[in-house]
Amino acid sequence: MALRREPHVLVVGGSDSSGGAGIVRDIETISALDLRTCLAITTVTVQTHEAVAQIHNLQPGLVADQMRAALQANAVGAIKIGMLATEQTIVAVADVLRQNPQIPAVIDPVLVSSSGWPLLDTGAIGVLKQELIPLCRLVTPNLIELAVLAGSDLAIDEDGALQQGQKLLTAGLQALLIKGGHAAGCRSTDILLRADQEPIRFDAPRLGGSMRGTGCALASAIAAHLANGSLLEDGVRKSKLLVFEKLRKSISRD
Ligand code: PLP
Repeated sequence: MALRREPHVLVVGGSDSSGGAGIVRDIETISALDLRTCLAITTVTVQTHEAVAQIHNLQPGLVADQMRAALQANAVGAIKIGMLATEQTIVAVADVLRQNPQIPAVIDPVLVSSSGWPLLDTGAIGVLKQELIPLCRLVTPNLIELAVLAGSDLAIDEDGALQQGQKLLTAGLQALLIKGGHAAGCRSTDILLRADQEPIRFDAPRLGGSMRGTGCALASAIAAHLANGSLLEDGVRKSKLLVFEKLRKSISRD
C-alpha cells in the first residue's frame, strides 16, 4: 500500500454548509500551515450563520473506517477531533485512537453551536469524558464546555476555571487549554493546564468583534503544529497568534 510521506492532520468532525465552522475551517487552517488534511466526516449539518436546520449523522462504523483508511494512506502526524454528535461515534473514534496511541490527538469538545443549537447528545457527555478525552493529548474547552465537563456551574473567575480544570486533570485528562474568549475584560487569556506543571497563560488583546469557527481553527492549528513536531506549549502559542490574526483580518473586512 502506497503511503504519502508528507505530514497530514487527520480531521474527524462535521461539515457546516455555511462555511463558518467545522471541517471547512479545519482544512483552511491546516492548509495555511502548509500541511495536508485527510478526513473522517462524522456528520453533515445544514446551517446558516444564525441557525442549524438539520443534522445527519453518519454511521459510527463508517466514521471509524474513514479514519483507518486515512491512517493507512498517509503519514498522519496528529488528529484533530471536532463535532461527534453521538455516543456511538465517540466510542468508535476512541477505538481507533486506542489502536494508534503514538499519534497525538487534539479535541475541541463541541457541545453547542454559537447559534445555540446542541451539537452533541446530552447523554453522551459522560462517555466523551470517560472514553475519549483521556486518550487525547489536549482538550480545548471554552468556559461553558469546561463547566459542563467538570459537572459544575459556569466559573465566575479565573480561580474557579482553574479549579474545574484541575478536577478534570485529576480524573485522568492529559492537558487542557481553557479558552477565556467568553470571559469579561480587555484581554483574551487562554490557560494551558497539565498535571504537575504550573499553568501557562497565553494572552492577547480582546478584539471588538467575533468570528464563527475560531475554536475549530485553534484546535486545528495546534494539531498541525504537533504534526510538525512542535512541543505543546509552542504549538499553542503559535496557534493563538494565528487565530488572533485571522480574527483581526476578518473584523477589519466586516
Ligand atoms: N457546526 C459544526 C459542524 C462544527 O464543527 C462546529 C464547531 O466545531 C459548529 C457548528 C459550531 O461552531 P460555532 O460555535 O462557530 O457556531
